[in-house]
Amino acid sequence: MTVSQEQDIWRQRAEALCIRSQAFIGGRFTDALDGRRFDCVSPIDGRVVARVAECSDADVDRAVSAARQAFDDRRWCGLAPARRKAVLLAFAQSVEDHAEELALLETIDMGKPISDSLSVDVPAAARCLRWYAEAVDKVYGEVAPTADNVLATITREPLGVVAVVVPWNFPMIMTAWKIAPALAAGNSVVVKPAEQSPLTALRLAELAAEAGLPDGVLNVVPGFGPVAGRALGLHGDVNGAFFTGSTEVGKLFLQYSGQSNMKRIGLECGGKSAQIILESCSDLDTAAQAAAGAIFFNQGEMCTAGSRLVVQRSIHDKVMERLVAHASTYRPGDPLAPKTTMGALVDEQHTRRVLEYVDIGRGEGARLVTGGARVRVDSGGCYVEPSIFDGVSNAMRIAREEIFGPVLSVITVADADEAVAVANDSDYGLAAAVWSDDVNVLHQVTRRLKAGVVYANCYDADDITVPFGGFKQSGIGRDKSLHALEKYTELKSTWLRLR
Ligand code: NAD
Repeated sequence: MTVSQEQDIWRQRAEALCIRSQAFIGGRFTDALDGRRFDCVSPIDGRVVARVAECSDADVDRAVSAARQAFDDRRWCGLAPARRKAVLLAFAQSVEDHAEELALLETIDMGKPISDSLSVDVPAAARCLRWYAEAVDKVYGEVAPTADNVLATITREPLGVVAVVVPWNFPMIMTAWKIAPALAAGNSVVVKPAEQSPLTALRLAELAAEAGLPDGVLNVVPGFGPVAGRALGLHGDVNGAFFTGSTEVGKLFLQYSGQSNMKRIGLECGGKSAQIILESCSDLDTAAQAAAGAIFFNQGEMCTAGSRLVVQRSIHDKVMERLVAHASTYRPGDPLAPKTTMGALVDEQHTRRVLEYVDIGRGEGARLVTGGARVRVDSGGCYVEPSIFDGVSNAMRIAREEIFGPVLSVITVADADEAVAVANDSDYGLAAAVWSDDVNVLHQVTRRLKAGVVYANCYDADDITVPFGGFKQSGIGRDKSLHALEKYTELKSTWLRLR
């Protein structure tokens, strides 16, 4: 089959999709109470692919009370752990069984290449669900070493009703990272997907119900952040709100909690991550290739994007030459074409914002060595070339602010000490990387980098077993691994006086 035949097949499948566009509350699809809907526009070509229920405060109330009822009558949290595990395993299996459909929904909704949706997003979401399912009946409580006349147990209990508010860059994975541990712990959940990408969350809720998740345990309220997201953050009957998105909105969630019921808040926010390449690295080509992938994969719409490249002066020219060559392998193309390596940015507004940063970089005196333009304009979609600025100082806005697009800022330094100082001179602290052949240098630099995730001689290594999250204004708390269960549970100490 030729590439264009394959592309046609994906297009036909996309046209034939049956898109769920209502809210999912109490185990069934339902319109918003006031009947409002918003356009779900595909960034591939600017077409409206669905008109999605626009949930308001009243819909959030409905979803929270469905979740509360499900929690209070213990239809989920009261099930034997082995039974909850079986339901979540069936849910994970169903995600795998619907891989093509989910991948297509993700791609038409937010513009990433179909090959990435198929090879990264769907498998990662299914793996996450399965991993936490398997943990359900393997996490034990503790018995404290008290005196003989008392017994003190330390156990974990679900929080209750949990709100999950997620962004659009990895809609399915971000949702899975939160709902999998939250459900495994026995909570009832209300998800607010990003308005740019509501489609997979709605389908996931339906698949979960079909797999046996009781009604009301997983609800989805699509809508706008300042309405539906805010209503969840301020709701007096939500016990915890777990957010992934910008630092700006993350801070609002801290306020919402203080203004309402002091609900627990978990935040996974933005980043301006530094990748350091030192002269003690002999394989500059591998480092440059990883550096390009770290900023251009997923169109640069990654919280961990390695958006600042910090290079030692002595190897600057060699790195730049290789970097530009690797950048050219990311060519914006039709996300439904299986060979496309770079898709569309999520929407028109974000595309304009990214291009504005290109102008800001030029205005600040940085040198654009490749890219910088909008392309494929005739498609009606949102495509920007991979773009690299050289001669950037860490004080420039393009080095300090999260662009969340395919724009790399290259900063030149004298040595490892300056590299660490530059890397740490940021409000953010999500990820950081260092490249060197010297294990002593790697050890010293990784220890000094102020970031939640640090890579040595790699970038974006990933496994569900390893915690993920940031220092400083990149967030509070961790997703993934057994540590994530701590977020979704209360610790209870129980004393039993013995004779
Ligand atoms: P965003 O903060 O604009 O939106 C995220 C979510 O919050 C969406 O569901 C949105 O509707 C909602 N929201 C927006 N305004 C709100 C308000 N006033 N009250 C309540 N909810 C509101 O972020 P985005 O543009 O969707 O995503 C990009 C951001 O997400 C980037 O900053 C990126 O770094 C971050 N991100 C972080 C991680 C991580 O794990 N650290 C992962 C992915 C993305």
